[in-house]
Order: sequence, then C-alpha cells, then structure tokens
Amino acid sequence: MSAAVPRKLGKAARLILVGAPGAGKGTQSGRLLEHFKLSALSSGDILRDNVRKRTALGIEAETVMRSGGLISDSVMVRLIVGELAKRGWVQSRAELTSGITMTGGLEVLGHGAVATKLAASNCPTSSFLLDGFPRTQKQAESLDQEVDMNLVILERISNRMVHEPSGRIYNLTWNPPRVPGIDDETGEPLTRRPDDCPETFAKRLKQYDDATLPLLEHYDKAGILWTVDGKTSDEITPKLIAEIDRRFG
Ligand code: AMP
Repeated sequence: MSAAVPRKLGKAARLILVGAPGAGKGTQSGRLLEHFKLSALSSGDILRDNVRKRTALGIEAETVMRSGGLISDSVMVRLIVGELAKRGWVQSRAELTSGITMTGGLEVLGHGAVATKLAASNCPTSSFLLDGFPRTQKQAESLDQEVDMNLVILERISNRMVHEPSGRIYNLTWNPPRVPGIDDETGEPLTRRPDDCPETFAKRLKQYDDATLPLLEHYDKAGILWTVDGKTSDEITPKLIAEIDRRFG
C-alpha cells in the first residue's frame, strides 16, 4: 500500500488528524509518512517522552495522563507551538517577508519584539501532520493565531473491539486478538462498543466526545474539515492518500 519512496507534495500540507482513542490515528500517520514527504508530530508521543525523561512537564503530565484527563490548554499550546518553531515547520512572519533567518521561534514568540506571530512556510517540504493536537476548541483557536492549518481529517473507524474490564482495544485489521472475539491476556470475551467500560477508558472516550465536537464545528466553519469513514484502517488509508493527493499532490 505504501510507495517505495515517499512522494513530494506539490503544495504545503498542514494537516490535523482527529480520531477517537483506539481509532488507529498512529497507524494512518505512519502510512502517510511512508507515502508522502511529510513530517509528523504526536502530542501524546511528546508527552510520553517527557514522562520517560522525568522532565518537570513529564512529572506533572503523568498523573493527568494516567487518569485519562487532558493536559491544560496553555501548557499544550506552548509545548506544541514551541515544537513547530523548533523544527522549522513554521517561521516568524518577519522572516518570511524579509528573508532574514532567525532561530528560536519560541524566543521570537516570547519577546514579541520583531514578530509576535509565526507563519507557516508555504514550501511543500515544510508539510506536516499533527496527531493529537489540537484536542479542544481553545487549543484550535490558539493554533489559529500561530499558523494556518489547511486540512483537518476526522477518521472514523467502525471495527473496534474492546476488553471492557481492562480497556484493552483491538482493531480487527491492524491489531486483532489471537482468537477472534477473545482477549489475549485474560481469555475473556470482547465487546464491540463498551457501555460499561473501566473508568479511565470511559473517561477518555467521553472526553474525546465532549472536546471534539466543538473542535470539529470550529474547523467545519473554517471550511477545512474532511471526514473519512471505514470499517478498517486498511479501508481508510487509500481514501486518505487519494484526498491528500487531490488537494496537495
Ligand atoms: P494520545 O497518545 O494522543 O492518546 O495522548 C495520550 C494522553 O496525552 C491523552 O490521554 C492526554 O492525557 C494527553 N494529551 C495528548 N494530547 C493532548 C492535548 N492536545 N491536550 C491535552 N492533553 C493531551
């Protein structure tokens, strides 16, 4: 399914991938990276990396993540916008107009003397994909202040199975249980849609629903929301690739 060499895009793509926990966003993100010359940033991965390294942020985030809660909007915005600037995926607007290269986008942001806003480079090689951020309308509004994203992909998958007592999620395509319908670890039955799931998982799903609806409305109004449905990840990938090709190829 993936191209041998990632293909260059004709236009700069600044993508946001949205999907419920367990919908396989990571899988799609990996496949897109194999297919297109594109970089990706996962807010969950950055947070987990901070937890592993025991940074101040990581120590604070760990408890929230364990409980299935969300990290505060202000912390997330600073973290992700800083990361975008560090990677050079967005540049200060002054840089873009003057051609002068400045480093340390966060400093630019912080001091605000030369340029208070960051602007995305329109060069196709600066194409990037955000996975897991923004997750709330507030985060989306803050991101809008910094960079113009140009496509928000809502991934909806319908073949998820869950082991309710543990919250373990299987996907029948990319992560099927060893025995169909049975949890690998406990041998207990799996269900399609838990109505009585463990606290953390339930909280995560509810939070996704609560936070995502306003987020999607926000991007729908901006005219950049696109939804892709499928029973499996494999069904979704070609649709996703075709759409990105159509818009940015
Ligand atoms: P993920 O790998 O995207 O499911 O993220 C794992 C956990 O990190 C989430 O359950 C949240 O606790 C936290 N997290 C990741 N991204 C965000 C975000 N944009 N805003 C708030 N919390 C986040």
